[in-house]
Amino acid sequence: SPSSPPQQQFIFRSKLPDIEIPTHLPLHSYCFQNLSQFHNRPCLINGDTGEFLTYSDVHLTVRKIAAGLNTIGINQGDVIMLVLRNSPQFALTFLGASFRGAVITTANPFYTSSELSKQATATKTKLIVTQSAYLNKINDFAKFNNIKIVCIDSDSSSPLPSSEEVVDFSVLTNADENDAPEVKLTPNDIVALPFSSGTSGLPKGVMLTHENLVTTISQLVDGENPHQYTNGEDVLLCVLPMFHIYALNSILLCGIRCGAAVLILEKFEIKTLLELIEKYKVTVASFVPPIVLALVKSGESNKYDLSSIRAMITGAAPMGMELEEAVKDRLPQTVLGQGYGMTEAGPLSISLAFAKEPFKTKPGACGTVVRNAEMKIVDTETGASLPRNKAGEICIRGTKVMKGYLNDPEATKRTIDKEGWLHTGDIGLIDDDDEVFIVDRLKELIKYKGYQVAPAELEALLISHPNISDAAVVPLKDDVAGELPVAFVVRSNGSKISEDEIKQYISQQVVFYKRINRVYFIDTIPKAASGKILRKQLTARLNEGLVVA
Ligand code: AMP
Repeated sequence: SPSSPPQQQFIFRSKLPDIEIPTHLPLHSYCFQNLSQFHNRPCLINGDTGEFLTYSDVHLTVRKIAAGLNTIGINQGDVIMLVLRNSPQFALTFLGASFRGAVITTANPFYTSSELSKQATATKTKLIVTQSAYLNKINDFAKFNNIKIVCIDSDSSSPLPSSEEVVDFSVLTNADENDAPEVKLTPNDIVALPFSSGTSGLPKGVMLTHENLVTTISQLVDGENPHQYTNGEDVLLCVLPMFHIYALNSILLCGIRCGAAVLILEKFEIKTLLELIEKYKVTVASFVPPIVLALVKSGESNKYDLSSIRAMITGAAPMGMELEEAVKDRLPQTVLGQGYGMTEAGPLSISLAFAKEPFKTKPGACGTVVRNAEMKIVDTETGASLPRNKAGEICIRGTKVMKGYLNDPEATKRTIDKEGWLHTGDIGLIDDDDEVFIVDRLKELIKYKGYQVAPAELEALLISHPNISDAAVVPLKDDVAGELPVAFVVRSNGSKISEDEIKQYISQQVVFYKRINRVYFIDTIPKAASGKILRKQLTARLNEGLVVA
């Protein structure tokens, strides 16, 4: 009521003091601000070939690409989609696009043609930068939508199709850097447009501005007592996919800002990974829990010298305590830390401090809230902020938080409230030592080895089948993947559609990790009066083993 006293707000901040963040700088200027200190140091190392580019090389190439983009008709604000495996070209194009004032949307190169086409349409993509292996998935819809294509490896494996729309990467890298046009950017201009389903619904474009990314990089690496990297000294392993904001921001861009050598691996293969860690003396290894598991379990890992690893960071999904213990046994010299992030928060929000003397963290903790940001934990029923040691929804505020979802003001309003708090859909608590623990997930999202699977996307595909009248997709716990998507399906009247037919129908349309692992047939999908699927009821049935396929 109007006369009741205002509720007490419990807001939590880092133990470290705030720093001055140069949010007036565009992302590329910020990343290269310390260039003069690092000129001849290796910047991007191609792990597969051993070739590397120094900081000077990278800075020059990025300006050439900005000029090249201009000559092929890419203007400020235009969207460029990257359909690339991890590669130096990925990094160069991203920074070149920033220089040009363009926007990069990143897509998983393993996406099917229809997944890629949906993202290109939603973002009004003007140009796709890809590699020859993926041209057959892209050509048709690109032609239809007048999208230009740049191919990074046309001269190696296969010749380009004789189409005017496809040009070689050298068209960009051979441009004259002095032709790069002057661009006036504001902190609020978008630079990256990764996709995330957020707390509900279909995957959406996450509008990350120059200010957002400058903030999140600065929070981790600038000033005294940086959270992760040490200026000019580190060798960072980049095996996680660069299309995901975790690798893009927290490995690549953070690395460039502080003069690290970024070792880029196209794919995860345990033996190569171990060889390269030893060869390049990797100091910081960022992983997701399934890679950590593979590393610990593999008999191979004892054959290599991994003592250079100063810090191992995992994120994107929860890490079990047994796994944490196993790493500590195998790599006693390594500080192991979890980070917690979300694409919409640009991404890392909670992280271990990795200064010379790292904060001690308890097993299972994700670290503490990063500098220059605020966190509160709210009661999911009342919305009231909660004191320490009480679990509720984690909310984050600060200039790190996305501008909003592309063309979706409703979803934006549901996620960022009037006071600027980003509601993460994750349940966590903060203890007396400022350590944050993630304890549950409120939102629909399924995470397969850290990859996002949006139930709403699979449900829409399922009910598009004439023999399916209703469907719900929920996570099933799995030791290796973390979670697997499984479907509850209501058949249409008289239909005898089988589990295999349904699985096949879906797998033709989606990338491998969105494939449905099990199908359970039921009579009705439990729903609230509002029509919302009661997912927790379905997951509970799964966990209690009450379902029969
Ligand atoms: P994404 O936007 O793809 O990075 O996914 C973000 C989501 O991944 C978060 O909202 C969490 O649900 C989950 N997540 C990320 N890091 C962690 C972590 N350390 N522990 C548990 N869940 C995590």
